[in-house]
Amino acid sequence: MRVAGRVVTPTGVLDSGYVEVDGDRITAVGRGGGGGSQWIVPGFVDIHVHGGGGHSFTTGDPDAARGAAEFHLRRGTTTMLASLVSSPYELMREATAAFAPLVAEGVLAGIHYEGPYLSETRCGAQNPAYLRDPSMAELADLLELGGGAVRMVTLAPERAGALDAIRMLTANGVVAAVGHTDATYEQTLAAVDAGARVGTHLFNGMRPPHHRDPGPVLALLSQAATTCELIADGVHLHDGTLAFAASVAGPDRAALITDAIDATGMPDGNYDLGGQAVVVRDGEARLATRDGSPGSIAGSTLTMDAALRRAVHAGVPVAAACRMASTTPARAVGLGDAVGALVPGLRADLVVLDTDLQVVQVMRAGSWVT
Ligand SMILES: [Zn+2]
Repeated sequence: MRVAGRVVTPTGVLDSGYVEVDGDRITAVGRGGGGGSQWIVPGFVDIHVHGGGGHSFTTGDPDAARGAAEFHLRRGTTTMLASLVSSPYELMREATAAFAPLVAEGVLAGIHYEGPYLSETRCGAQNPAYLRDPSMAELADLLELGGGAVRMVTLAPERAGALDAIRMLTANGVVAAVGHTDATYEQTLAAVDAGARVGTHLFNGMRPPHHRDPGPVLALLSQAATTCELIADGVHLHDGTLAFAASVAGPDRAALITDAIDATGMPDGNYDLGGQAVVVRDGEARLATRDGSPGSIAGSTLTMDAALRRAVHAGVPVAAACRMASTTPARAVGLGDAVGALVPGLRADLVVLDTDLQVVQVMRAGSWVT
């Protein structure tokens, strides 16, 4: 099968290009496809997502996980991690056991624990009741239970034992991410030295940068080894901040994520995130408060196609934005040899976008899903 259009490859855009697909693989990419003005871009890779379409990963329910994966797949996300918010240890175990078979089946690309080893001061919408210092025994147990399904763990490097935990995760092939943290610049660099390779939603849930106290934001941006997650929804980050971070990190170190919750694609109203009440108004998710004042931002209602459009709107060129939506996140979690680019040999995951970057069709593993 041949799909023709303006093809976004790792080296640039092929106008009137094509992608040749055989079975579940890309077999050739080249010029002369005679295609029109539609974009052919790599399937999106979302390494930080909690749910969508009314389904949540946070409860550890495998049917809900399938529903969330299906929802995002129809919007172009062909690879995703299931992100779990801070929760009691037993729920982490249950969710890990429930999702490991979905990882083996290929519905999910892995599990991401966002917590519970996070900072109380920077908890955002993470339930403070569950936050604690890293436990090597818990992590060892969870990695064993997951049998390779656990791909990333977000933690706060200033917590007691965090650097040992980062070393242990890294030694086991799990990506350590720095986030929901009150760490100083120096503490963040120590985490990167220990092996941390991802900054969890840069700027959000971390000590804000000050010129005399640059904190995690500047530390993560400054290190060539780290990938910085960015939530491009116009709520979490000003477009100027998004454009600035994308240009400092560059498209090979900036990764678009959704941080989407179950309310994504659903009407405004009341939802739940890890046992905390969330109110969604005009698509903006915040923790519910007693007096109705705006609570902490509680994830997003973003999808990866909308994140791509927002990045382009903020000034990122289309090809660079596609790297940030696919290639870079895939590589950040160790999947760059399998997915994330339109390159022969990789899985045939692609999205056809119209000239306004709206999703027209989605292909996963060589099959059209829309
Ligand atoms: Zn999150």
